[in-house]
Amino acid sequence: MSPSDEKQAQLLLDIALKEVEYLKNHDGLTGLHNLAAMFKTFANWHSAGQMYGVLYLDINHFNLIEQMYGHEISEQILVETAARLQANQPKHSLIARVGSDEFVVLLPLKEIEEAHAHANRLLASLQQKYYLKNNTCSITCCIGIGIYPNNGSALEHVVQKAASAVLKAKHDGLTIAYYQPAFHRSLCRKLAIDQALRVAIQNQKLEIFLQPKVRLHDQSVSGYEALLRWDDNTLGTVAPAEFVKVAEQMGLATEIDQYVLDAVFKFQARQQASGLTLSPIAVNITSSHFNSQTLPDFIFECAQKYAVPVNIIELELTEGTLMHRDKAVLQNMDTLRDAGIRIYIDDFGTGYSSFVYLRDLRVDGLKIDQSFVREMDSERGLGLVHAIISLAKASGLVTIAEGVETEKQSDRLVELGCNYGQGYFYGRPKAITNLI
Ligand code: C2E
Ligand code: MG
Ligand code: MG
Repeated sequence: MSPSDEKQAQLLLDIALKEVEYLKNHDGLTGLHNLAAMFKTFANWHSAGQMYGVLYLDINHFNLIEQMYGHEISEQILVETAARLQANQPKHSLIARVGSDEFVVLLPLKEIEEAHAHANRLLASLQQKYYLKNNTCSITCCIGIGIYPNNGSALEHVVQKAASAVLKAKHDGLTIAYYQPAFHRSLCRKLAIDQALRVAIQNQKLEIFLQPKVRLHDQSVSGYEALLRWDDNTLGTVAPAEFVKVAEQMGLATEIDQYVLDAVFKFQARQQASGLTLSPIAVNITSSHFNSQTLPDFIFECAQKYAVPVNIIELELTEGTLMHRDKAVLQNMDTLRDAGIRIYIDDFGTGYSSFVYLRDLRVDGLKIDQSFVREMDSERGLGLVHAIISLAKASGLVTIAEGVETEKQSDRLVELGCNYGQGYFYGRPKAITNLI
């Protein structure tokens, strides 16, 4: 290599190294700092005793914007957003791009309220139309606010709190929200449950309990309901009402349902092998799962795998599932009922009850929610239970009373013509392992 070539090569290397150095601290698209650079700068620059506002800005539905306008326009939106944030940048403040469509503004404050005022200024600026190539588009944003050092002695933690405040804003349908510890705790709990639940499902650590359902006229057992129980090493006992809700929100609903269905079919196969008559076992199906084709497929596969009739299970759905009455829900309902599987509406009366679905849907019965059974001592409560039973009868549906705890409640339900009962009075849920 000649000396001039060497010089040229060194020059190119220097430029490349500078570029790498630049990208270590900057976002390549917008030229803003990245989060690591913001932390570094803050550490060298902030003055003791000074309060700072951390504004965490998130563009709503940015993935939809990307789908609608394409990658190039979406990138221009981000560049323009960065420019508008800079145009509104207060003195001695820092701005960073921290995620695809997320930005953080860090500004010194005299009063906490100044953070809200600046957030409002930013929103007003970002609400102005974006004129890009041949497109005109608008975006909406949410801003979460954390305060340093009030919400944490390390800036990193305050940024996390501000990110949690964005979720709070979205949750409440607001555009701006301050960090709220109670909401943050519930988010952390949700995440902890999600993580531990995935492990529990994988390691088969969820237990199935069965609670009897009885025919009210003679209190003979007509079947059972499968109920999940979970004792986690770290979280302790987590109630199914809590972890099933988290499972639904975190995309684990199908796994949970399949776990229970498989266990119940397996249990029934063992009963069959021992020469016992099989009583139907009702499985609760999460609402997001019921409109999926995988549900009937999985049920038929289980019946085949364990060589038991498919109708040894029943299904319980909540009113929320039926509210949508979309095609997939109706189709699944028909397929499953045609196979002889009985379907019940769970917790009847607590959701969005509508006469339309009693008329249109092919279900077999209603489970009267335990809150109504509990109120049967009062004339009004008794009247309500009576009304639900009459409504079911008029619709050709059977009724199952939930949460029956006393003989008096049981007797009254018989008088009112309720068909079945379930509750501590007849039997508490028992672990499947104790029943084999
Ligand atoms: P659910 O399906 O309405 O189940 C009835 C709940 O009432 C159960 O609570 C049961 O233990 C409780 N219970 C039964 N008899 C009595 C009684 O006499 N008095 C009182 N106070 N309670 C009684 P659990 O097991 O805590 O389950 C709560 C909810 O969690 C269930 O309500 C169901 O929505 C959901 N869940 C439970 N297991 C599963 C499951 O395997 N899959 C799905 N998707 N959801 C489940
Ligand atoms: Mg149920
Ligand atoms: Mg119920």
